[in-house]
Amino acid sequence: MPDPRATSPSLSFKELLDLLACPKCKGTVRHVEGRGFVCEACRLLYAIEDEIPNFLVDDAKPWAG
Ligand SMILES: [Zn+2]
Repeated sequence: MPDPRATSPSLSFKELLDLLACPKCKGTVRHVEGRGFVCEACRLLYAIEDEIPNFLVDDAKPWAG
């Protein structure tokens, strides 16, 4: 039985960030501790809900920062 938790054991959080992209503009997103991921270009916050980043554009919140 493959362990679903062991899909990318060597991937660091930084490397994971490099793989993430804004679903709207395909640009890079920035991690904001305790909040989620922000796309500066779209000014949208993709919140982390139950430890799972929600990258649905419809669920993204306005980001003023
Ligand atoms: Zn974007």
